[in-house]
Amino acid sequence: MTDALVIGAGPAGLMAAGALAAAGRRVVVCEAKPSPARKFLMAGKAGLNLTRDEPLAAFLAQYDADWLAPILADFGPGEVMDWARGLGQEVFTGSSGRVFPVAMKASPLLRAWLSRLAAAGVELRTRWRWAGFEDACFAFDTPEGRAVLAPRVTILALGGASWPRLGSDAAWVPWLAARGVAIAPFRPANMGFTVDWSDHMARHFGAPVKGVALVAGGQRERGEFVLSARGIEGGGVYAVSRAVREGAALTLDLAPDRSLAEVTGRLAKGSGKETMANWLRKALKLDPVKIALLQEWGRPLPKGDRLARLVKALPVRHGGPRPIAEAISSAGGIAREALTEALELRALPGVFAAGEMLDWEAPTGGYLLTACLATGLRAGRAASGYGAAAP
Ligand SMILES: Cc1cc2nc3c(=O)[nH]c(=O)nc-3n(C[C@H](O)[C@H](O)[C@H](O)COP(=O)(O)OP(=O)(O)OC[C@H]3O[C@@H](n4cnc5c(N)ncnc54)[C@H](O)[C@@H]3O)c2cc1C
Repeated sequence: MTDALVIGAGPAGLMAAGALAAAGRRVVVCEAKPSPARKFLMAGKAGLNLTRDEPLAAFLAQYDADWLAPILADFGPGEVMDWARGLGQEVFTGSSGRVFPVAMKASPLLRAWLSRLAAAGVELRTRWRWAGFEDACFAFDTPEGRAVLAPRVTILALGGASWPRLGSDAAWVPWLAARGVAIAPFRPANMGFTVDWSDHMARHFGAPVKGVALVAGGQRERGEFVLSARGIEGGGVYAVSRAVREGAALTLDLAPDRSLAEVTGRLAKGSGKETMANWLRKALKLDPVKIALLQEWGRPLPKGDRLARLVKALPVRHGGPRPIAEAISSAGGIAREALTEALELRALPGVFAAGEMLDWEAPTGGYLLTACLATGLRAGRAASGYGAAAP
């Protein structure tokens, strides 16, 4: 009989597996993909922002879910840094408190983590795709055909619904819903927005827009983003994406270091004989991509004060969020009320859940991985005492 089953070998599942093994449980991790932690490795391509080195109160304020507070208080930024160091990966704190491994990638950390788990007796079965329940048991599609496991305790760590090609395809939603588990609909989080560009904009695709402020729903973020044929994406856009997804209008301040009065003063003389683009470049030091955006979203360009106001608050004309398959993360998932404080599913005793499959969201910047690791640890520790065989 399987003792402790973990489904999903992402950061949440691996953390849970480690906690179960540390408590002496015999752990089997089943992973649908041919190799573990593909999204974690993808996160490593951008340096692997593990956490954020900031005071706990400021850190917690970034999450939309109060109930995560005690879990993150147990395993927050400091613990994540110690954990990485414990796996032989020194970390450093970069700009605005973002913490990365010195190696700036995920593979050395993942290798060390997997060998530690293997040494603790954790068995990893890849290409084992959970395919739903068979009575109270878990059915898998495996390379050898159908397999059914009846574990003493189970942890689900199947991820959210973004980037499904890396494994987290949310196929589990109807299976849990049918068992009475409340699930909030998945929505894209930390995503770009579709823009139906005019033909003039094609030459700017791939261009970064730097030194702007993005303003939405009372939030003002200095940041960068990129134009593509599909629309706009990148850190600056992700930072305001939740407010915009919830319906807030998005505007761009193209000259965030100048006050409205200063911009008005600089534009007061008018363009004279200059082309509009030359005049805006000289008067406000706007680069070509910013001028193109002003013309794209501000046309027909007004004059005088109204033009200055447009430079300071250019409405972004978008067609809504890009699809969830392109989003960095997802909002939605297993609802808080479906879980105990130990992250056990109320409707399915002995089944715990962790990571992005739970209903919480946070911005990029290390918040996502920290909460996945922390909930994995919480679920793994809580599950350790469940259904243990008598000694
Ligand atoms: C491009 C990109 C960059 C990112 N960068 C960062 C970053 O720098 N910092 C940060 O904090 N976060 C980052 N994230 C987010 C972070 O990677 C995720 O939040 C995190 O990986 C989620 O962990 P998880 O364990 O909950 O789920 P996942 O990592 O999605 O793992 C779930 C696992 O479950 C498996 N699985 C799913 N269904 C089944 C099934 N039916 N049977 C068996 N196995 C199954 C999947 O194959 C997968 O291996 C990034 C995400 C992306 C897409």
